[in-house]
Amino acid sequence: MAKPRTPAGRARETARRLAEEYPDAVCALRHENPFQLLVATILSAQNTDERVNLVTPAVFKRYPTPTALAAAETGELQEMIKSSGFFRSKTKSLIGMATALLERYGGEVPSALEDLVTLPGVGRKTGNVIRSVAMNLPGLPVDTHVGRLSRRLGLTTETDPVKVEHELNAMIPPDERGIFSLRLIEHGRAVCIARKPRCEDCVLNDYCPSSTVRPNRTSAKANAAKANAAKVSPAKG
Ligand code: SF4
Repeated sequence: MAKPRTPAGRARETARRLAEEYPDAVCALRHENPFQLLVATILSAQNTDERVNLVTPAVFKRYPTPTALAAAETGELQEMIKSSGFFRSKTKSLIGMATALLERYGGEVPSALEDLVTLPGVGRKTGNVIRSVAMNLPGLPVDTHVGRLSRRLGLTTETDPVKVEHELNAMIPPDERGIFSLRLIEHGRAVCIARKPRCEDCVLNDYCPSSTVRPNRTSAKANAAKANAAKVSPAKG
């Protein structure tokens, strides 16, 4: 196919190819409702999802509702989340977030981004995670991976996450924004690594302006082999 030459064309093609590469991309933070995801996302700052998933079961059990979390004893909660790092400020955010939910939103997690970002510990990235993952609403979280890949792929030149988000929103349909972000994150972790991108293994390297290799012959071959394997061979004889 012809190489996409515009940011919008590259965004569309990237969405298409990453959907093939990562059909099952999901948010790795374990949760059962928007409130739990809000707690987990606040805990995930400067920490891995795996480590957060070790901490949250006890937190969810002890503080199953905003009412319980708002009434948490600071020292007890700090102890419980200590291993997630920055535990003092995260404790403050968690109790403040739960208190704000009770005082301003009747104990419910609001769905509008402009409301979500008023909660302690919640910025646009977290707000967009809550909307897209827990509420199935449009939301494109821009984390370090999404920003880096968007720039390397020539989808934007912006470095401010809010501007990156606006530019991507203009190119990605509302119902695909959350999954597009999750797939960029997976690709950023697996292939387009910050320090040394593995361009030779990247399925986007034939049009990525930052590619350090020529168009991906290996991947093209691998893709052709995949496509052939998917076809049902006609019976011989
Ligand atoms: S070709 Fe290289 S720089 Fe471009 S997206 Fe792939 S890994 Fe990243």
